[in-house]
Amino acid sequence: MDYDEFASGEELDQKASKSFATATGLVSLGMRSYRVDGPCPRCGHRMALNGSLDLLVPSGPGKSRRPVFEALQSKDQPAPAPEPMEVPLRCACSHKHEGAPGTATGCGAEFIITIPPSRIEVRR
Ligand SMILES: [Zn+2]
Ligand SMILES: [Zn+2]
Repeated sequence: MDYDEFASGEELDQKASKSFATATGLVSLGMRSYRVDGPCPRCGHRMALNGSLDLLVPSGPGKSRRPVFEALQSKDQPAPAPEPMEVPLRCACSHKHEGAPGTATGCGAEFIITIPPSRIEVRR
């Protein structure tokens, strides 16, 4: 199968949801991360990866500006129910596909999987 950087779409998304039916999410300190392991919906090669949906915000002056307000806010929300996590992914198999740029691996497919709340762990 050749590399195709424009491979994406609903069909691929649907296949991906099945490929990564064991994907799990984790919400810790407001940071959402995920773990996926399964066959790429396009090339079928296995890909396994961990990633984060939220960038780490370095703690600086802006962070501590309203500590009291933030404390009150988190008190009002003791148990945030996890929302389904939409994870944009790109094929990350370890195979070199024909036509891939440079030393890139993967078939270029892009897709979005949705991790349901039942597979998302919330840590506080
Ligand atoms: Zn692939
Ligand atoms: Zn592949």
